[in-house]
Amino acid sequence: MEAVKEKIEWMIDYDFLDIQYSGKLPMIVFTERGWYIERDRRADEFLAEWDKWIEEDQPIPDMTYLKDRNRGMILLLLKKAQESGETKYIPYLEAWEQVDYKKVRAEIRKTIGMLKSGEQVDRSEALERQQEWNEALKGSAPQDIQLKCWECGDRFTFSIGEQKFFKDMGFQWPKRCEKCRLERKFGELF
Ligand SMILES: [Zn+2]
Repeated sequence: MEAVKEKIEWMIDYDFLDIQYSGKLPMIVFTERGWYIERDRRADEFLAEWDKWIEEDQPIPDMTYLKDRNRGMILLLLKKAQESGETKYIPYLEAWEQVDYKKVRAEIRKTIGMLKSGEQVDRSEALERQQEWNEALKGSAPQDIQLKCWECGDRFTFSIGEQKFFKDMGFQWPKRCEKCRLERKFGELF
């Protein structure tokens, strides 16, 4: 439990995960960076599953299992199928085409067409994606942030520690510098 907690906290600090408050309950969600990485992995896992089933000569499953998943991930999965050039995926794609929504269906059809034609897919996009993925994987180390005060316009430091505290408490980022915060609080005294 302790190790899992530590890992999650590290992933929050490095911008892979975030905490969102739904009512009073904190919920762990992917950041844009985190989802960029995870989405790619999920797409690879789905394709690897097809590879395994094809190798084991298994019957084509009920393809509705791919329906209603994250659209971005599904389109990436199709892109990867296109890039693979593997005609063995065609029966899966044809079965899938029967059950999914119009937009996904169009993309599935396009994928089938590309695989059937045997045309070489431009690899540069896949390469670029791989580079971005590697970059995303480095994460973003926590650092002090300079914020601008709404009241007086001065810059002030929002430290790593404060950021952590605000996040844990589910607070919005501070809008005012400390001086203005105190002035608001105690008014005429200052
Ligand atoms: Zn101020």
